[in-house]
Amino acid sequence: ELGQPEDELRPPQSRAQSKSRNSSVNGRMSVDDFEFKEELGQGSYSTVWLGKLLATGQEYAIKRIDKAHLKRHQKEQTALAEKNTLVRLGSGHPGIVRLHWTFQDEWSLFFVLDLARNGELQTRISRLGSLSIECVRYYAAQVVDALGYMHSKGVIHRDLKPENILLDDAFRIKITDFGTGKLLDSGGEPTKTFVGTAQYVSPELLEHNESSKSSDFWALGCIIYQMIAGRFVFRGLADWQKIKQLEYSFPEGFDEQAQDLVRKLLVRDPDQRLGAGPPGSPYDMQALRSHPFFASINWRTLWTAPAPPIE
Ligand code: ATP
Repeated sequence: ELGQPEDELRPPQSRAQSKSRNSSVNGRMSVDDFEFKEELGQGSYSTVWLGKLLATGQEYAIKRIDKAHLKRHQKEQTALAEKNTLVRLGSGHPGIVRLHWTFQDEWSLFFVLDLARNGELQTRISRLGSLSIECVRYYAAQVVDALGYMHSKGVIHRDLKPENILLDDAFRIKITDFGTGKLLDSGGEPTKTFVGTAQYVSPELLEHNESSKSSDFWALGCIIYQMIAGRFVFRGLADWQKIKQLEYSFPEGFDEQAQDLVRKLLVRDPDQRLGAGPPGSPYDMQALRSHPFFASINWRTLWTAPAPPIE
């Protein structure tokens, strides 16, 4: 049931915080623990607020989901999937939005999330037209690292795109929007539901309605292309023949090593997509990290060293 297992989500210190504020008798968080400062954006069934935890002054993004709307559109499963996925991912990776607490009132569910103050990567691409090759390298590496973690936890995102890649204070990424995420129970077999966004949809999803962690690497290829070229590699479902036949070309001046990487990600066979193969294969995560495009990336300081200026 949605909203029930808050206790699992509550970090140890929050009980003490709630008690000291005397705001909730049973130690749970509630809307009264926060000051809602400004609206950050709206989704199809939610509104996201910048909220300050009164006890500490810490700021968060608070996603408020309208229960009646969820019910009307039969989206309870989406909200539940988002919560379960975020719970599974926990606080284990800096590149993934962390769910700190959930609570509810009569009308709404609330998800208290890491605040990503610098908005969506999509906005930056649109504003700048395209990104510098150093930026692309940095953001692609951060996505690779976050995907590695996510997949190791048995989570596939299934809707990876620059709108779902948020930027924090330090311009590092925070991947969000796990409403279409999928929890793999074992082995990572493909799953059979059509989800995702047309421009980033993989051939196996189009043809067999199947997605696996490999589909996230297809999306990564599309995102790298888009960051460099400033346009989609495929326009969406209208291009479905082109997606299936891998019919696309690189604009003049497109970095050679990035071209090679994109070609190895936009591969029809999901098992031969770079990053997606079993450990030890030429397509495994290590092979992806070792691709020449990432030669200058220091993977150990990827989340601590300053981000390159976004340009
Ligand atoms: P949909 O529900 O249609 O998929 P969405 O995923 O964008 O849309 P929300 O997750 O509710 O919907 O997010 C609404 C907006 O709030 C987003 O466009 C984003 O700009 C902003 N936002 C979401 N999460 C955060 C966050 N953690 N930090 C800062 N801004 C956020």
